[in-house]
Amino acid sequence: MARKKGLNQYSKADLLRELAERLADEKFHDGTTMSEMELAAEGLMKGDAGPPPIAAMLSRMKPEKPTAKACPKCGKRIPVKARDRERTVESLAGPVTFKRNYHYCETCKYGFYPVDRLLMLPEEGDLTSELEKRVLDFAVNDVYEQCAACWELHYGQRWSENVFRRVAERVGNQCTEADQGRTKVHS
Ligand SMILES: [Zn+2]
Repeated sequence: MARKKGLNQYSKADLLRELAERLADEKFHDGTTMSEMELAAEGLMKGDAGPPPIAAMLSRMKPEKPTAKACPKCGKRIPVKARDRERTVESLAGPVTFKRNYHYCETCKYGFYPVDRLLMLPEEGDLTSELEKRVLDFAVNDVYEQCAACWELHYGQRWSENVFRRVAERVGNQCTEADQGRTKVHS
């Protein structure tokens, strides 16, 4: 605790400078290439040197109260059906795991997680919206096979082409549903 208090006195720039120096101590040796330097710097953001920043921010959320929450479809207050369900999503800054409560509206036959909605996470899948946007950008511009290869080059993760197919199909379906919804309103 005393150590933490001490660290608070440094500016963010000081801390980043110190972190950069430590990284250089660890990673730099004669013959280190620019690529190795860049990848080490990128890894820092993803939590290679400690807990990733996303987890730290998520831990600041107020603990979820197990009270009834409004169903997003009908607005009726629905009690918790299951507590502390774990979800892991891949984010731009690496994987993050958190727990949240599940509610199920019998009237609408619709299950929902208020915390996911608060965070505006996609209801399904293992990716955050930011990552999903990028996956989709790859998926609409190339065949899925090629997407996986390009993705690995950009983000250093080897994913199967199925990741791209699933996101493209799901988002495609959502668009179709939204279009049909609009048509209904206008007719
Ligand atoms: Zn409902």
